[in-house]
Amino acid sequence: MPDSYTARDFPELRGKLIENKELAPFTWLRVGGPADLLFLPEDEADLAMLLAQKPKELPVFVLGAGSNILVRDGGMSGIVVRLTAAFAKMSIEADNLIRVGAATPDRVLAKFAAKSGIDGFAFFSGIPGTIGGALRMNAGCYGSETADRLIEATVLDEVGRRRIISVDELSYSYRNCNAPKSWIFIEALFQGQAGSLEQIQQQMLKIEEQRQQTQPIREKTGGSTFKNPKGHKSWQLIDEAGGRGLTVGDAKMSSQHCNFMINQGNASAADLEELGESIRKSVAKNSGIELEWEIKRIGRK
Ligand SMILES: Cc1cc2nc3c(=O)[nH]c(=O)nc-3n(C[C@H](O)[C@H](O)[C@H](O)COP(=O)(O)OP(=O)(O)OC[C@H]3O[C@@H](n4cnc5c(N)ncnc54)[C@H](O)[C@@H]3O)c2cc1C
Repeated sequence: MPDSYTARDFPELRGKLIENKELAPFTWLRVGGPADLLFLPEDEADLAMLLAQKPKELPVFVLGAGSNILVRDGGMSGIVVRLTAAFAKMSIEADNLIRVGAATPDRVLAKFAAKSGIDGFAFFSGIPGTIGGALRMNAGCYGSETADRLIEATVLDEVGRRRIISVDELSYSYRNCNAPKSWIFIEALFQGQAGSLEQIQQQMLKIEEQRQQTQPIREKTGGSTFKNPKGHKSWQLIDEAGGRGLTVGDAKMSSQHCNFMINQGNASAADLEELGESIRKSVAKNSGIELEWEIKRIGRK
């Protein structure tokens, strides 16, 4: 195998394998350079084939809806995988169990559950990611998180083996999952409970109103920039350190919710990262607390 790989090195794949593909349009922050290779697998067998055939040293990264990602300006080495419609199926099983593909947007699951009279998924209506991203980040809001509802997840491991993993084995904690980084989530089995459509819709409406009032949801943003340190709110620490509205070039800490970073138009990934790092320094100086990035920063500088 050569040092750098092209689509010709993987002739048996049936999905699209695109060279030098810009990633910015696939992310909410709309920044970053190209992926050496972007793979859109035709189906599970196709993705398993890539993982089984690829040389060990060739990195693979899975992109969901790109709502918690900062791709650096130099782009990504190796293969970036974006799951396709084949991974976005949903079905109801007995006892309010929902099986859902990892490419399904969280909001679509929330609406599907509501329409089916299954409660417990309204919180997903406010999170703009996919189920794969939710499984990796343990996404949550308003007191609920992904792990609360999860029974088991189906993954493809680093060599493309299909494995079913129980929620306990995934060792979830706040915005974190301890599954090996190489695993790709392809499906989840969630447990809900019987509920009324009207009540669930009301919950979803309330969540939407709250979001509109408190978060810059129409901007180019990556959601919460930093995790909340135990016993603290990141936005409060940032505010107290004078970070609200701070800018580097076109990168800005939102005036509406100062733990949200915004690309006001022409920010580079470097601007956004520099802004985040300067916020971390100010907060550490002001409060002695080290903020930890929640946004995943990936790729070459
Ligand atoms: C306006 C806004 C509001 C937000 N509000 C919230 C909120 O209330 N609560 C919250 O928790 N988050 C929130 N977020 C952050 C974000 O939506 C979540 O973290 C979401 O779960 C990320 O999902 P994604 O599909 O966009 O993943 P990406 O951002 O694309 O990726 C995030 C991580 O998940 C991994 N990943 C994605 N898919 C898979 C897969 N199939 N298998 C393995 N790993 C995978 C990626 O490799 C990466 O490490 C918000 C973001 C925005 C922009």
